[in-house]
Amino acid sequence: MRIGAWEARTLDFGRFRLDGGAMFGVVPRTLWEKEAPPDALNRIAMALRCLLLQNGQGRVVLVDCGAGDKDSPAFRDIFALEDEGSGVVEVLARHGLKPHDVTDLVLSHLHFDHAGGAVRRDASGQLALTFPQATVHVQKVQWEWALAPSVRDRASYLKDNLEPLKGARLHLVEGEAELLPGLRVRPVHGHTPSMQLVEVDGLGGHGLVYCADLVPTAAHLPLPWVMGYDLHPLTVVEEKEALYRRVGDGSAWLLFEHDPAVAAARVDASGRKPLVVEALAALE
Ligand SMILES: [Zn+2]
Repeated sequence: MRIGAWEARTLDFGRFRLDGGAMFGVVPRTLWEKEAPPDALNRIAMALRCLLLQNGQGRVVLVDCGAGDKDSPAFRDIFALEDEGSGVVEVLARHGLKPHDVTDLVLSHLHFDHAGGAVRRDASGQLALTFPQATVHVQKVQWEWALAPSVRDRASYLKDNLEPLKGARLHLVEGEAELLPGLRVRPVHGHTPSMQLVEVDGLGGHGLVYCADLVPTAAHLPLPWVMGYDLHPLTVVEEKEALYRRVGDGSAWLLFEHDPAVAAARVDASGRKPLVVEALAALE
């Protein structure tokens, strides 16, 4: 899909499962199970959906990169991580690209299911950067938080994901910024300190907002449907309100990183409950 100067495509780097109760915070299961049916272990299916942006001028931008495939079998089992046929190399190859071609990696934040794919194991079993040519754009505050997280969220920040990134070409972004023409980041702080939303300008048409974990699935569109994982749930509510004030008139595509079925939607948030005006299973 053309968005302004950028060609935008969603990439699916596998699936995983998280506890349904944790995904919907204080929302009772009798309500959320209709939106996201749980398995026998109370886990719901989650996508690892990333965004590929190309501007025809040599920039190949990846926004988030899934969980990767280097974690131990025990870890992968807890989260039912699957990437059969949807590993980074295979998925990029379908678009005629190799990991070396990625010029910019924008990480919304450094939780393992968003940033883990940035590090792989090489042929000798050593940890290595998956996208060695890429400048890695992450908010400075999030980077510092990830290196010294709280006891409540430290399980989401894995040393194997962070140590190798210290050797990457890191761009530590401070606040709102235009990374490239028509490509902006905007930090929000309710889920974790300085997670960045990624916004692509539509020139006279529909823009796009990569919502990361602010609105992880279409089921999380209603303001009070926030995750148990969020460090500051009321801040998340305010940040969703601010997002809807900007793009809740259906003018932009909201991209959902974790929704197994809906990749993107235009949303009318003028009423009490946000309504999906148009939904897409993928951006192609
Ligand atoms: Zn997260």
